Amino acid sequence: MARSILVSGAGIAGPALACRLGRTGFSVTVVERAPALRRGGQAVDFRGPVHMRVLREMGLFEALAERRTHMGALQFVDARGRVVFTLPPSFAGGELEIERGDLVDVLFQKSRDSAEYVFGDSIASIAQDGGGVDVTFERERPRRFDLVVGADGLHSRVRALAFGEERRYVRHHGHSVATFRMPNLLGLERRGLVYSEPGRAVVVSSTRNVEEAVVMLVFTPSNEPLRTRFTGMGWEVPRLLPYLDGASDLYTDTISRVDVDGLSRGRVVLLGDAGYGATIGGQGTGVAVVAAYVLAGELAREADHARAFARYEATIAGYARGCQATARHMGPFFAPRSRAAIALRNAMYRALTSRPLAGVFERMTASAASDVTLPTYV
Ligand SMILES: Cc1cc2nc3c(=O)[nH]c(=O)nc-3n(C[C@H](O)[C@H](O)[C@H](O)COP(=O)(O)OP(=O)(O)OC[C@H]3O[C@@H](n4cnc5c(N)ncnc54)[C@H](O)[C@@H]3O)c2cc1C
Repeated sequence: MARSILVSGAGIAGPALACRLGRTGFSVTVVERAPALRRGGQAVDFRGPVHMRVLREMGLFEALAERRTHMGALQFVDARGRVVFTLPPSFAGGELEIERGDLVDVLFQKSRDSAEYVFGDSIASIAQDGGGVDVTFERERPRRFDLVVGADGLHSRVRALAFGEERRYVRHHGHSVATFRMPNLLGLERRGLVYSEPGRAVVVSSTRNVEEAVVMLVFTPSNEPLRTRFTGMGWEVPRLLPYLDGASDLYTDTISRVDVDGLSRGRVVLLGDAGYGATIGGQGTGVAVVAAYVLAGELAREADHARAFARYEATIAGYARGCQATARHMGPFFAPRSRAAIALRNAMYRALTSRPLAGVFERMTASAASDVTLPTYV
């Protein structure tokens, strides 16, 4: 009989695992708390030979390449809109950049025929024994599975139930992030603009749809509502803020990283942000897809789940940690805490992105993404 796997979370990691596992004879159920796929967020990127190999072997490359953003440079501007420095397209967008919503769609379309998707529900309890895992849900009837995968993001329910409470595993880096879509008021085409003031920054980027832009807010937390936190900011910000109120796709979270002591507990294993996330800047999406490829490969070739989980962890844990390392710089990079720190950042990046150093800079960003030796799975 096919082994049954319950995957919690239909973000990136969960559907990526379902794409692979469904085709190898597993019976896969994906439960997502939201009532439908969550397509929010900025563009996400893939870079370096490991990402490209995995996308090709998973049969995703063509579908993603068709929807690539073709994003240009990211320009940092002052209050009058003058460009202070420019990051090259490959820095922000890697080799293949795609809107997060498009990636969610591609993964779902590719896995929906071989996996059962249940929306608007969540795991309520997990009890495992030598032969399987008994799971109760908030809405659906209880079921028993061979294995459970926690792919339910930074605030994973599976991690809380099987590993312990969140504060043991999630470390806040001191900034938060929010994203939402709005009309393309600034007329951007294949480029993004960044404006920073102490402790807050606004990033506006074009999307594949010329009528639309995506906004990312980066900020040091306070008790004020999000709208108030950005009130009084210069540049074009007053024109953008009204769209925050009505945003139907608002995504907001702290910039945090997850560190667990071992990625599995018996028949339960963590995948993606739940196990080694870093919100933004930690290449969470690339790591999640590579890790899904490895976990599926190990489960397909190894009947003993404990051995499969151990090999998955041995391949992925160090790689994920290397990618996470850059995440703690993201908040201070976009929203330095003082005017002096903003001036220092601007001076440093003007030098780093100057012609002689540009190549070195680009190679640095791709190296963590490729720092893993992948087994060959048939
Ligand atoms: C709406 C949204 C927007 C994002 N925007 C960005 C962005 O702009 N830039 C960026 O770098 N990263 C963004 N991320 C995070 C990024 O997707 C991840 O870092 C990365 O892709 C790894 O994916 P993941 O599947 O592990 O986590 P996620 O993409 O966070 O997916 C986790 C999924 O689990 C679901 N879930 C949570 N709790 C439960 C539960 N109890 N039961 C069932 N399902 C549950 C969530 O609704 C979500 O669909 C965003 C995530 C989300 C959910």
